[in-house]
Amino acid sequence: MSLFSRPNYLKIFGKKKDIPQGLWIKCKNCEAIVHKKEIEENLMACPKCSFLYPLGSKQRIKSLVDEGTFTEMFENLQSGDPLNFIDSKPYAKRQKEAQASTGLKDAVITGTGKIHSIDVGLGIMDFAYMGGSMGSVVGEKITRIIEYAVDNKLPVIILSSSGGARMQESTLSLMQMAKTSAALGRLRTANLPFISILTHPTTGGTTASFATLGDIIIAEPKALIGFAGPRVIQQTIKQDLPDGFQKSEFLLEHGMIDMIIERKDMRNTLGFILNFLMHDTLNGSKPEQPEKQTPAVKPSDTQQSFGDKKSPVIKTAHPVKSHGTPSAKITIEKNGRKKSSDQPHTQKITIESKPVGKP
Ligand SMILES: [Zn+2]
Repeated sequence: MSLFSRPNYLKIFGKKKDIPQGLWIKCKNCEAIVHKKEIEENLMACPKCSFLYPLGSKQRIKSLVDEGTFTEMFENLQSGDPLNFIDSKPYAKRQKEAQASTGLKDAVITGTGKIHSIDVGLGIMDFAYMGGSMGSVVGEKITRIIEYAVDNKLPVIILSSSGGARMQESTLSLMQMAKTSAALGRLRTANLPFISILTHPTTGGTTASFATLGDIIIAEPKALIGFAGPRVIQQTIKQDLPDGFQKSEFLLEHGMIDMIIERKDMRNTLGFILNFLMHDTLNGSKPEQPEKQTPAVKPSDTQQSFGDKKSPVIKTAHPVKSHGTPSAKITIEKNGRKKSSDQPHTQKITIESKPVGKP
């Protein structure tokens, strides 16, 4: 009887591998099923929960600088293998593989570009290249871009994403910590600002050198930032670590960083800060003197204040802890001059400085 017979549906033959892979992904954090393209268009952030996935250095540059303004510098520097180091495989082979898989020569891209029409020296690290480890080339490129910035009176922005010093270069990689820090010292003497951006993860020798020497230190939400890993610390001090230890939010609360900025807001925040800090240089004018009726924020008004009060360098002051929730705007104050942005999640920064570019 036709009522009970099986209808002749069209049979589809296909193997599993014929189905396009990876169009949709399950978010690691909120478990929502999200279209991969949607995440890519959102700078590798989950559109549902804002969880951040790794973002390569080239996409980073694209997301930060004005279109078509980036010029790469020192791009031909490549690490040698002075120690003929072999771990599970020779260092030279490891590097060739990393170069083939990432299309990069080493773990940082350096160059110049414009952000909101302001010229900057840029160093953008890439975790995909040997865990963003800092060897001789990373240290040299970062040092060179800082020196170029000193010579050309540019502010410097370095975005870190690094597992620390490159073990395969042993002492040579550790020397980069001193070299990059010394170069930043010269930038500081020239009274030019250094903005450090810490992304997930920023650890080891990178944290212990240039990454935490920023005049303004910005972190991405929930980034792991520290020197040694939590397990090593726990074994050493034999104590339980507090919740959220080494995460951006914990470090902000304890005064280690100045602000936490979402990836999508990073470019505008940088533009806002640069515009303010470089205002005097760009307009060729002297900085305004503080007005008598506008008292500058005293160190005692803030949770923490670093450096000598009389020092001519830029310094930042952290928010009063009793504020509880961070204020809804960035407020920058420099020599009594104030400016606020519409960016959320951030704090008040106080800056005292001499004319930029004039030591
Ligand atoms: Zn999510």
